Amino acid sequence: MTKKVKAIVIKSNDIKEKDKNVLLFSIEEGKIWATLKGVRGDKAKMKYAKEPFCFGDFVIEEGKGSNIITSVDIIETFDKLSKDIDKYFEASALLEIVNSLNVANEKYELFVSLIKALKSIAFESTSKYLPLLKFMLDVFSAYGVPLYTPKCACCGNEYHDHVFINYNVGELVCQACKSFQTEELSAAQLKVIKLLSENTYDALKTIKIPQETAFLTLKVLAANFYSRFEKNLKFIGIFN
Ligand SMILES: [Zn+2]
Repeated sequence: MTKKVKAIVIKSNDIKEKDKNVLLFSIEEGKIWATLKGVRGDKAKMKYAKEPFCFGDFVIEEGKGSNIITSVDIIETFDKLSKDIDKYFEASALLEIVNSLNVANEKYELFVSLIKALKSIAFESTSKYLPLLKFMLDVFSAYGVPLYTPKCACCGNEYHDHVFINYNVGELVCQACKSFQTEELSAAQLKVIKLLSENTYDALKTIKIPQETAFLTLKVLAANFYSRFEKNLKFIGIFN
């Protein structure tokens, strides 16, 4: 059976001499593995389709226990990312997140966010880490555990001067509601989380956040990600 999916390459592994197994994240079916035959040479017709970030319409032939990619219409390779190491690391962090999640019903929402975040990193002059932070907030929302609430998620009162993240439930709470597994956020961190939760990817270029604040917020969101999904994000080039 032949099927067509709109998908982005998350990663690929070598198999046999010239073949590659590719992990696709598709809008129709979530994550699927498929094989690209004879693509390891420079002259291979579909060589771009094995590269992470390659976004396109993939035609897949379903056989007994195997999926073979027979053609690809490339929409965007995002090859611009490879020319800026910081952008490359930030964009790779997005793929690491998708790779570590079980994608089921959230696939459409997540796919749209991923493409918007990648476009923002590759083509817009946004402050460092803002698209990645926004994508992480989108992930929490897509999985039914949105992080940001304008008032304490526990009692409904204003945060007043202090706001805490409760890693146990993945919510923001006031001083009166803080318990074990909570960490205080700075006013600057709360502002980042609020701004990114309330704005679209298009608006990111108008938001200026100090890199240090963005980095510390990234650490908090990665800790919350671990509590929600039990997956440790490495974020190569960012955390180490
Ligand atoms: Zn409270």
